[in-house]
Amino acid sequence: MVVATNLGFPYVGAKRELKKSVEAFWSGKISADELKTAYQGIQESHWKLQKEQGLQHIPSGEFTLYDRVLDTAQQFGVIPTRYQHIKDPLQQFFAMGRGIQKAATETTEKIDVPAQEMKKWFDTNYHFIVPEFEPTQEFKLQAPRSVEQYNTAKALGIETRPVIVGPVTFLHLGKTAKGFEEFDTLSLLPKLIPVYIELLNQLQAAGAEWVQIDEPALIFDLPANVKAAFEEAYKAINAATSIKTLVAAYFGRVEDNISGLLPHVDALHLDLVRAPEELDTVLPLLNNKQILSLGLVDGRNIWINDLTKSIKLAQKAVAALGTDRVFIAPSCSLAHSPFSTVFEKKIAAKNPELLSWLSFSVEKTKEIVTIATAINQGVDAVKDTIAANAAALESRRTSRQTSNPEVRERASKIPAADWKRPDVFEVRRQAQVKKLNLPLFPTTTIGSFPQNKEIRVARQKFNKGELSPADYDAFIKGQMKFMVDFQERVGLDVFVHGEPERNDMVEHFGHLLHGYDFTENGWVVSYGSRCVKPPVIFGDVSRRGPMTIDETVYAQSLTKKPMKGMLTGPVTMMKWSFVRDDITLIEVCTQIGLALRDEVVDLETAGIPCIQVDEPAIREGLPIRRADWDAYLEWSVACFRLSTAGVRNETQIHTHMCYSDFNDIFDAISALDADVITIENSKSDEKLLKIFALKKYNKELGAGTFDIHSPRVPSVEEMKQKIVDLLKYMPKELLWVNPDCGLKTRAWPETEAALTNMVEVAKILRAEYA
Ligand code: GLN
Ligand code: ZN
Repeated sequence: MVVATNLGFPYVGAKRELKKSVEAFWSGKISADELKTAYQGIQESHWKLQKEQGLQHIPSGEFTLYDRVLDTAQQFGVIPTRYQHIKDPLQQFFAMGRGIQKAATETTEKIDVPAQEMKKWFDTNYHFIVPEFEPTQEFKLQAPRSVEQYNTAKALGIETRPVIVGPVTFLHLGKTAKGFEEFDTLSLLPKLIPVYIELLNQLQAAGAEWVQIDEPALIFDLPANVKAAFEEAYKAINAATSIKTLVAAYFGRVEDNISGLLPHVDALHLDLVRAPEELDTVLPLLNNKQILSLGLVDGRNIWINDLTKSIKLAQKAVAALGTDRVFIAPSCSLAHSPFSTVFEKKIAAKNPELLSWLSFSVEKTKEIVTIATAINQGVDAVKDTIAANAAALESRRTSRQTSNPEVRERASKIPAADWKRPDVFEVRRQAQVKKLNLPLFPTTTIGSFPQNKEIRVARQKFNKGELSPADYDAFIKGQMKFMVDFQERVGLDVFVHGEPERNDMVEHFGHLLHGYDFTENGWVVSYGSRCVKPPVIFGDVSRRGPMTIDETVYAQSLTKKPMKGMLTGPVTMMKWSFVRDDITLIEVCTQIGLALRDEVVDLETAGIPCIQVDEPAIREGLPIRRADWDAYLEWSVACFRLSTAGVRNETQIHTHMCYSDFNDIFDAISALDADVITIENSKSDEKLLKIFALKKYNKELGAGTFDIHSPRVPSVEEMKQKIVDLLKYMPKELLWVNPDCGLKTRAWPETEAALTNMVEVAKILRAEYA
């Protein structure tokens, strides 16, 4: 019999119950005991639910109060020195995850420690806490969550499969602890393995038959020493334990990274959504006992599975291995999907057809069970489910909602000239200099101004229908007037309208485009207790009408200074949404690029001289394997250019990225061919600045003069130094003066103080360098 399994479940809860409990604990509203009761309740309901769905291998141990990698670190005693004085394990855990600030009381000392670094978990939008290792790191197993959770489930009569983060991934994702000379964290493997063995033995002693060891690092381009580490780790584990080991790779292809470890594991999990071709390559590599776990149901997206296709793949595996050596699974943990479509009442009422195409975690577990049943009992046993699935897929394929002939026609016939601006930057620049007549070191901001409570309340009232469209419009206009007056007072050179009408740079535009919809409860964890609810791109994208013209033109009417139009770029619009999987990403991105192109041209026609198209997500969209980079960069850059190339030479195109670590994709950034690019520079990284000189970057650049994440107001001298540093590498004529990013999360007083200093910097520089 093939086994229906799961790799992980959305621990945040059906209605984000865990988030609410954890945050209540942080704010002192509930005690540690109450938090424990709350999370155990959530766990219990999740285990029962998965069991009721018919899953046979139900995961435990992947449930975390903040982050699973942080759990792993704490349970192995990987506690950076600065947290060791915090004795209470729960408080220490949260201190490592999010920092802690507590005033001294009569009985306790003051605590003030920042959080550990956070990084993106592979190419997901989830962020994990980066473990910090010391060169002489010792490991000690303490209160492992996986054992605790396994026992809790067992006490409830539910047999689970414990999940742990694998030793190589754990070390490989970690870094040298602060204050130590950089060393290879993998060198700690010989010391770490015995602790893993101890953990596995504890799990087996508790009664676990299987353990799932997550080793997603298997999908990276790996140097030989890391590949060797996999072999070393699993050889040792296999020799010292008898619990059955399932090593899980996901989010990409394993290629030959598995060759060293494969002989030493009982089962291997592959992501056949991302790498379906690996079924054929891996089947012949297995010995005659090993089990293959087939990641057939997409754990990263929200669309129904093609059950017939999945069953075929499963049959192929069964033909090679027999039914006893196949697991059916999601591609990765379902924690990356929202909880269930049953909460989507609005979509159900307004667009039941769309609802029939959606599958969140609970629905995905049903799909897994259906595939397993089709294999075990024959397709007939699930014929109704398969027929319904086929009908939904057919409706998706043929629906007028997913396919707009006009959009398709236009996208298939884009003239070659539309993919780039007619003239090179030097020529455009002459026209722009003439038109804009800006001073040396022009000052500007990145788009948003503080979104205070007043704005949020007005937006909420408007969304609830308590504020009429006319009143809301008047309110937004009032805000824009205030923001324009503010910029006038501070003395900036290129203005923005301030984005008071936008709650989010992607969702806002999603509402103004065809092809997008929005869930009510489609939350996924981004980090800690923080969740995001990405919009859904389900159909061909086109503008419903002009999107930003009214606001921008109104803002421009209030000032003689040039107004900068503000749009979100095609790659970011796509990357921060749940994207349809029935056409290619290139097609989706091209459609968005075309829609934006029309908006850019409309802005120009309406008299807007500068247009910024933000692309903060270009870098995070980079594929994990280097071999895939060029193809990605080619189309993502092309789509950006498609969106911006419809304007005349005199119209200045800006773009913005919220980071500065793009040395390895510099050529692509340059190929965006934006007239002005603004980037983050709060860390003043010499390496970053040098590359502009090295690559002879010849377009305009605004490297942020202050960090917008902090209320701190840097002095004139401090900000000036950033530009002076940059002048070593770039000619003064090309430099702008601006903050790192949008000011949405800041308050007005610090914004005014920082921008006033920033304008002062520009004035001083003009005097010095004129
Ligand atoms: N224009 C946006 C803003 O200022 C840019 C935000 C971003 O880069 N993430 O808010
Ligand atoms: Zn930014």
